[in-house]
Amino acid sequence: MRKENGGMGFRNLYGFNLAMLRKQGWRLETNQDTIVSKVFKARYFPMGDFVDAKLGHNSSFIWRSIHASQVVVRGSLRWRVGDGSRIRVWYDPWIKDEGRSYVTTAVPMGKGGLVVRDLIDSNGKVWREDEVKTMFNEKDAKNILAMPLIDEVSADKQFWQFTTHGNYNVNSAYHYVMEHLVNNRGWRMEGSWLKLWRLKIPQKVKVFLWRAARECLPTRCRLQTRGVHCSDRCVHCNSSFENDWHVFFGCEKLEPVWSAAYLWHVIRENLEIADRFVSLFFQLLDFLQHEQLLSFVMTLWCIWKRRNDKLWNDIETQPRISLQTAREVLLQWQQVRDSQGRRTQDNHRTIDL
Ligand SMILES: [Zn+2]
Repeated sequence: MRKENGGMGFRNLYGFNLAMLRKQGWRLETNQDTIVSKVFKARYFPMGDFVDAKLGHNSSFIWRSIHASQVVVRGSLRWRVGDGSRIRVWYDPWIKDEGRSYVTTAVPMGKGGLVVRDLIDSNGKVWREDEVKTMFNEKDAKNILAMPLIDEVSADKQFWQFTTHGNYNVNSAYHYVMEHLVNNRGWRMEGSWLKLWRLKIPQKVKVFLWRAARECLPTRCRLQTRGVHCSDRCVHCNSSFENDWHVFFGCEKLEPVWSAAYLWHVIRENLEIADRFVSLFFQLLDFLQHEQLLSFVMTLWCIWKRRNDKLWNDIETQPRISLQTAREVLLQWQQVRDSQGRRTQDNHRTIDL
């Protein structure tokens, strides 16, 4: 899922496989002159096109895999009208309309076999306007008559409608699959995810923040809901449930930590407004700027580390010292980043000379 929707930017494997397979399907549909296309066509769709081919019995593994991509080919392909002889009016995608490429008019009696050429005047390359207006609903008629017919173009041609040049590419196929075929709406979460990923902090801290904001840190309450037998009490105060809110904002033992980071007044002001960890987290991510923002995210990381130290090693470090460690982690990371930046500049200078 994309980072802006709360994912980590990894590709969905099913979606990516389908997009890759679709490349083979696209070749079978649009380039029927190759030997491979001829072999598949002879065996699996001798009388028609790839988009209409049935899976059939005793199919090979390769054919079954490619056939799975048929749904993507169908959804992404459109015909460019030449002489109109290959395009079936009612069953092929050839309309240029937002969101769909098929005509929406019901098939009139006895007209099922119509091809687009039947709608073009044989004396000149213009639409048979009256016939189009009579046969189709207003929207289809408008779309058809708006399509230009070019004299010099004779062959109908299929093209991939999600890139400007009309050629297939895996990225656009992948996005088509994810938007139309894979239901990932349930995984999306609102929030300034891009701002989180663009923070200039160590990667391990970003991943920690992502896990916290996706509500997947192993707090004791969460572990219990997943069937782990453990106490649900906070490791510091032992008097309340250890959920995300309590770990980072609610526990009374946190005040000295946030105070040492000079952020307690900001947290206190916002405690009443938000009701969940995630809402307050994104609220402050949007609101805080520069040094304060860096301090906020590094303090969250520090709080989680203090909680783990207490839980696993029974160590309770002074808030001031824990925060100092977090600042050093950030500082070291910044120094490495700056020295790498300088080295790159030096290399460029050497090349310039
Ligand atoms: Zn507590």
